[in-house]
Amino acid sequence: MRDEAKGFDYFMFVRQWPGSYCGTHACPRLEDAGPFHFTIHGLWPNYNDGTWPQFCDTSYKFDEDEVSDLEEALDLEWPSFMGENADFWDHEWSKHGTCALDLFPREHRFFKTVLKLHWKYDIAAALRAANILPSKSNTYKVSELADAVEDMYGARPVIHCYNKQLSEVWMCVDKDLKPFTCDSHQKDTCTEVSIPPLPKRNKTTAS
Ligand code: 5GP
Ligand code: 5GP
Repeated sequence: MRDEAKGFDYFMFVRQWPGSYCGTHACPRLEDAGPFHFTIHGLWPNYNDGTWPQFCDTSYKFDEDEVSDLEEALDLEWPSFMGENADFWDHEWSKHGTCALDLFPREHRFFKTVLKLHWKYDIAAALRAANILPSKSNTYKVSELADAVEDMYGARPVIHCYNKQLSEVWMCVDKDLKPFTCDSHQKDTCTEVSIPPLPKRNKTTAS
């Protein structure tokens, strides 16, 4: 049961696979971080009943200056595929971050925590260890991807697909920032996926 007074129950920690969306879109803000590198979508407060709070403090406007020392890392690890990076960070802070102000009272704590989680629970490292690699021809069972992440981090994620391509890996994370196996409210969105390689990129001239 939801108890608004107690805040939320856990986090959904979401990483995106750039090879799928950015295979068919320009993604000018995506930097070259090597051929197998997931990027961050967000860390989202959730309730156990499958619902979630959002936009919890509309008066708290995202201030990019608060994260200026993290920006180099954020540009690499948390780029927007479809717009300005800072607009994506603003959206994620406003929609999700402001629902965890008890844990992250300011932007800096939130974004730094998410970066550290992303580095600690490296999705590509887990898949690589199971010999699951981007490929133009292979398809994988999503259960194999989940097994690989569970083998490395002890918690089973949920796999999201778009047009049978890997789009996102969702990990459930408790309020002490420890991953745990997501419950039945969260389901894989396909049974087999491809992991399209990231196309070779021209150096962007966008500033
Ligand atoms: P989609 O429908 O693309 O999965 O999700 C659209 C948006 O709804 C996401 O960007 C996210 O903001 C929100 N959303 C979807 N599922 C969840 C969830 O399980 N937890 C939270 N906190 N937000 C979600
Ligand atoms: P959510 O609401 O799911 O937390 O975030 C999705 C919103 O962020 C969408 O409205 C989308 O327009 C914007 N957005 C900006 N850059 C990205 C990106 O790289 N990936 C996704 N999924 N959404 C992005």
